[in-house]
Amino acid sequence: MKRFIKKVAIVTGAGSGIGRATALRLSREGASVVLVDRSEAGLLETENGLAEGTRALKRVMDVSDEAAVQALVQDVMATFGQIDVLCNNAGIAGSHPPVTENDAAEWQQILAVNLIGTMLFIKHVAPHMQARKLGAIVNTASVAGIRSGAGGNAYSASKAGVINLTQTAACDLGSDNVRVNAVCPGLVETGMTRRVFDYARANEKAHKLGSRCELRRYGAAEEIAAAILFLASDDASYITGQALPVDGGNTASL
Ligand code: NAD
Repeated sequence: MKRFIKKVAIVTGAGSGIGRATALRLSREGASVVLVDRSEAGLLETENGLAEGTRALKRVMDVSDEAAVQALVQDVMATFGQIDVLCNNAGIAGSHPPVTENDAAEWQQILAVNLIGTMLFIKHVAPHMQARKLGAIVNTASVAGIRSGAGGNAYSASKAGVINLTQTAACDLGSDNVRVNAVCPGLVETGMTRRVFDYARANEKAHKLGSRCELRRYGAAEEIAAAILFLASDDASYITGQALPVDGGNTASL
């Protein structure tokens, strides 16, 4: 499949996990890619895996820094002249304290990256899509944004916010043919969840990982990337404002 030939896609959090899998598949399907992450080493590794001949721009930055987002978007337009796809995927989990022990600074940091970062990219990229009456935005939310107990309370609130932002942005941008959707991954082995996996394996609990979902296994980053690419592609041309669980059925029994 080569659904993204002549298309330009920005992927945040492209230096690891789901973002890396998304960027690599976009490049295999013909896209020029803009790789954004705060980790330079992660971006280099992703860049090394791109399909031969892929046009790429990479930027080490913090997605919650509006001036940096604005400057990046200007550079992307100067380099490629268009933005077809935006994958808002960078995220942090933070610690998991009970609500009575929350640290306000950590709450603000999680909201800044997961929710405000997503908003800032939509704010600065969408006008270029509106001008062409063409564009697809896919935000990485989480099952934690749908059901309680699936994450720390700041993380869950940030992902619930991403789902709501997906809906409101879809309403604002739909008349200009800019679609906005989200994926809600279940448990996936990535940098973010490495500690959980390491702990489970070290304590003979590996069989429990993902066991609570209907498919009785955890997911792979490539399985989330596949759903992101579907929503970003013309195959999803009549889908907007939706948050698609990609969770092995974890939310099926809600
Ligand atoms: P990951 O840690 O492997 O990748 C996240 C990437 O985002 C990292 O490369 C990190 O450097 C980057 N990043 C973090 N903060 C940033 C910032 N301020 N600016 C720029 N880059 C930043 O984790 P992942 O699991 O691949 O996470 C991708 C997305 O998937 C996140 O939004 C996460 O919340 C979501 N998610 C993950 C899971 C899971 O089980 N892994 C489940 C549901 C949702």
